Amino acid sequence: MSLTDQIYDQVLQRNPGEKEFHQAVKEVLDSLAPVVEKHPEFAKHKVIERIVEPERQIMFRVPWVDDNGGVQVNRGFRIEFNSALGPYKGGLRFHPSVYLGIIKFLGFEQIFKNSLTGTPIGGGKGGSDFDPKGKSDNEVMRFCQSFMGELYRHIGADTDVPAGDIGVGGREIGYMFGQYKKITNRFEGVLTGKGLNWGGSLVRPEATGYGAVYFAEEMLKVRGTDFNGKTVAVSGSGNVAQFATQKVNQLGGKVVTLSDSGGFIYDPDGVVGEKWEYVMELKNVKRGRISEYAEKYGCDYYPGKRPWEIKCDVALPSATQNELDGNEAKVLIDNGCIAVSEGANMPCTPEAADLFVENKVSFGPGKAANAGGVATSALEMSQNSQRLAWTFEEVDEKLHNIMINIHKNSRDAAAKYGAPDNLIVGANVAGFLKVAQAMIDQGVV
Ligand code: NDP
Repeated sequence: MSLTDQIYDQVLQRNPGEKEFHQAVKEVLDSLAPVVEKHPEFAKHKVIERIVEPERQIMFRVPWVDDNGGVQVNRGFRIEFNSALGPYKGGLRFHPSVYLGIIKFLGFEQIFKNSLTGTPIGGGKGGSDFDPKGKSDNEVMRFCQSFMGELYRHIGADTDVPAGDIGVGGREIGYMFGQYKKITNRFEGVLTGKGLNWGGSLVRPEATGYGAVYFAEEMLKVRGTDFNGKTVAVSGSGNVAQFATQKVNQLGGKVVTLSDSGGFIYDPDGVVGEKWEYVMELKNVKRGRISEYAEKYGCDYYPGKRPWEIKCDVALPSATQNELDGNEAKVLIDNGCIAVSEGANMPCTPEAADLFVENKVSFGPGKAANAGGVATSALEMSQNSQRLAWTFEEVDEKLHNIMINIHKNSRDAAAKYGAPDNLIVGANVAGFLKVAQAMIDQGVV
């Protein structure tokens, strides 16, 4: 049995029932076999055994009072996974499906993603099984205050800097920042994704979606083409999907689908102009359902379905994990899809990802393709430290260059380690090498 297989077996035994975490670890370990062969020092220093074990796992009670005066109890998490490259960094997810296995999968991915950005940040992730859907603003505020009432003692501008993820946008970051400031009496860059007038960075809201499209653009370049005239299927209709759609529109492509947990809309004329503005209002202000788009613009709505049956040139899965399976991958391939860039974290099942690679569909794995969000969070941290605010153009240019570099470094690593064009292997290896070397340099800690 190979070393990586042995370590994977230990991970299964030590972390029972955490299937998303197992999936994320397996994908990385499968890529590392040739690296371990070339670098015996990683085995000697037990780097892989150490990297799969979080440095710290925090779980806590989050009690809060609803609008009817009833007491509610949720569970909060923060996984501080790896700090070899810098303070822990990674978002907070509020969604009823959240449990330890989801947060550990996201935290583990974050280590390699953050390394790929070339910025000095470690990996972490957190969240709660709280569901913001259907809650009043006051309920969301009371929940966020209670959540931060515990989290504050574990985080700090040089320790651990959370951001948003599913269910955590500007509103939630604001409530949590306010509570952190009140408890600690410190105005510091402890969260990213802050409001623009109180320490946020321009382009942070756009960054993950824009980044996933910049990454796809690089993959298309390798194939000698670009977004102009391409039909694009996007899933989700939250932060990542919204700005991926805007960037595709700017680059001359046409986004024909969006979705939420209720179903998807198909608009063959494209989600563009006033229709895109409508989505922004619907999802960020009204907090409504994507089906309302179909009612308003008279296009088709497919309840309970995902958009992958629609013919497209490029697919941008941007909702959640395991939302595109092997059968759906086959349909996309048969329909002539040439590139898939993961806006979400691990949206393609392992079978789907393998099918894309085997069938020469350009495939950008989430830890590379959606790294633009955390990269821009790191830029927000730099601006906070300097007490400066850069212009939109400055931040966007830095983001664009970071995405070009992630693509190049992943491609180079794939070629060097015997898997040319396989960006899954390339991203895992390139991300791992930097962290592994730093862990050796810093001794057994
Ligand atoms: P949002 O909460 O803004 O939007 C999430 C979207 O995905 C919503 O449309 C939501 O629909 C849909 N969705 C969520 N869960 C499910 C589900 N189980 N089934 C079907 N649809 C679902 O989140 P983001 O856009 O921020 O995040 C989307 C993905 O991108 C996540 O995987 C996240 O980890 C990843 N990501 C986000 C980053 C960021 O900067 N925000 C950075 C890097 C990655 P509904 O409203 O009905 O639940």
